[in-house]
Amino acid sequence: MAPYPEDLPRWREAARIASKARELGMRRTVTGARRRDVAEAIESFIRDAGAEPAFPANLSRNDEAAHYTPSSDDEAVFEVGDLVKVDVGAHLDGAIADTADTVEVGGTHRHENLVRAARDAVRAGIAQVRPGVSVDEIGRAIAEAIRARGLKPVVDLSGHSIERYLLHAGKTIPNVPGHGDATLVEGEVIAIEPFATNGMGSIGNGPFGNIVRFRRDPGPSDPVLARLYGRFRTLPFTSRWADAPEEREALRRARRTLQAYPVFVERAHGLVAQAEHTVLVAATGAEVLSAPTDE
Ligand code: MN
Ligand code: MN
Repeated sequence: MAPYPEDLPRWREAARIASKARELGMRRTVTGARRRDVAEAIESFIRDAGAEPAFPANLSRNDEAAHYTPSSDDEAVFEVGDLVKVDVGAHLDGAIADTADTVEVGGTHRHENLVRAARDAVRAGIAQVRPGVSVDEIGRAIAEAIRARGLKPVVDLSGHSIERYLLHAGKTIPNVPGHGDATLVEGEVIAIEPFATNGMGSIGNGPFGNIVRFRRDPGPSDPVLARLYGRFRTLPFTSRWADAPEEREALRRARRTLQAYPVFVERAHGLVAQAEHTVLVAATGAEVLSAPTDE
């Protein structure tokens, strides 16, 4: 048995905040809304609730599967029919929750099957969660749920274990069988995040998505950089949050210390839907920390 997080109430609270932020993001993602405004509304909600964003609000569209956040000069607006993944993270002192859902802008319901496939799949994966279960069984359940709707799981994206200040802590939760044989341990926190597509089921690297993270502590020699590291540690962040001229300059100098994330784009430019929950592996099964709130 892995130790349960000693500050489990904090993980639950971070997840409750993330869940509400996800719901707010889903409501705000409407025709004509500026992407940057929606991202900032999500992030402000998290801060106003007493937490910090664990990563920039991801608002990837259509064939973009993940890792796009608007830049500080992004003036683009959502358009009717856009399929938007609202992927949100909140943390309280390093206790991280990561959760996502997909909205079709303008209520056109053309891509309802994709949205439902991702939601069916996350539910099917969660239903497998218990101590000792192989992650392969979770991947199998996820893939079956997506294929049952005539769609494909994205094979090269996966869920992950989460530890304090570590969003991707090392254990992979696959979205297909045959991609891992680790077993779940009581007390672990994991994110399950299937992606369903009508494309080929694989992603490639697109352009820079305005998200970076420190690979390591840059040390004290550059005070601006040290302050930024103190704020973000090794969690992903965006230049929207470090927009002062001296901060931009410090980040340019520190390029080699930073990991820059490309947008993940579906290889056949198929549409992609995602659903994600952060889950505690409890003695009797999953405790879905980021479950829908009552609002
Ligand atoms: Mn995740
Ligand atoms: Mn996520």
